[in-house]
Amino acid sequence: MAPDLTAYRLIQAPYYCPTGREIDLYEQAYARRLPILLKGPTGSGKTRFVEYMAYKLGLPLITLACNEDMTASDLVGRFLLDDTGTVWHDGPLTQAVRYGAICYLDEIVEARQDTTVVIHPLTDSRRILPLDKKGELVQAHPDFQLVVSYNPGYQSHAKDMKPSTRQRFVSLDFNYPGAAIEAQIVVNEAGTSTALADKLVDIAHRSRALKSHGLAEGASTRMLIYAAMLIEDGVAPTDACEMALVQPLTDDPDMTSALLAVVSAHF
Ligand code: ADP
Repeated sequence: MAPDLTAYRLIQAPYYCPTGREIDLYEQAYARRLPILLKGPTGSGKTRFVEYMAYKLGLPLITLACNEDMTASDLVGRFLLDDTGTVWHDGPLTQAVRYGAICYLDEIVEARQDTTVVIHPLTDSRRILPLDKKGELVQAHPDFQLVVSYNPGYQSHAKDMKPSTRQRFVSLDFNYPGAAIEAQIVVNEAGTSTALADKLVDIAHRSRALKSHGLAEGASTRMLIYAAMLIEDGVAPTDACEMALVQPLTDDPDMTSALLAVVSAHF
């Protein structure tokens, strides 16, 4: 019996502010059921974008946050014991493949190579998922699409995406949007004023400029939204910025002072 994927359908349209032609390009890629790689720093809107596209296309969305302990069985499924004996349970990827959902593998490089290879036959014209343990080849449902995300900023030899995997995807680049759009997102998500959002975006730009000077990542859109929410709730702006924009980014005392100086120049 087909499982009920209703829980994976978005009931309300997620708020998504386009930053370029990504909506059209996604639709074109989906029309051909091409697998998509979303590249970009954390908190730049990749997940929100997939949610928006799943809603727009009327598809269920099954999201999996990848990690190094994830095994191929966690994706495809396993035999489990119950009172009738051993019974096969489809994993989330298999459910999406069989019944026609978008499967979103968030931070794919976090998964081990032996886990990621299971997606290879799904990403070419065969569109099949071999369930080795069960001895079944699942042909993908016509609606199925694979989407993965990847943060190139965390690149290291161990945590890079292998060319043999990444070349199987068409790719959309997610960088932080222009200042006006980013401020609009902060206004919408945190219910704050444009004047405050503009200041926070400016702080973010300055922290992003420090990226190659000792900071692994600059402040993300998500962090700006957190800061704005705290300020809206009455937290003093300098405290809110320290909590949301400074402490999460660095443990280094000099970098902390540099970022706090940027904050005090704005508030
Ligand atoms: P990622 O998946 O890239 O880590 P998210 O999609 O979770 O990032 O984005 C973090 C938050 O930033 C979202 O919850 C949303 O509030 C906001 N956000 C970022 N970009 C956009 C956008 N273009 N439109 C609407 N909200 C956005």
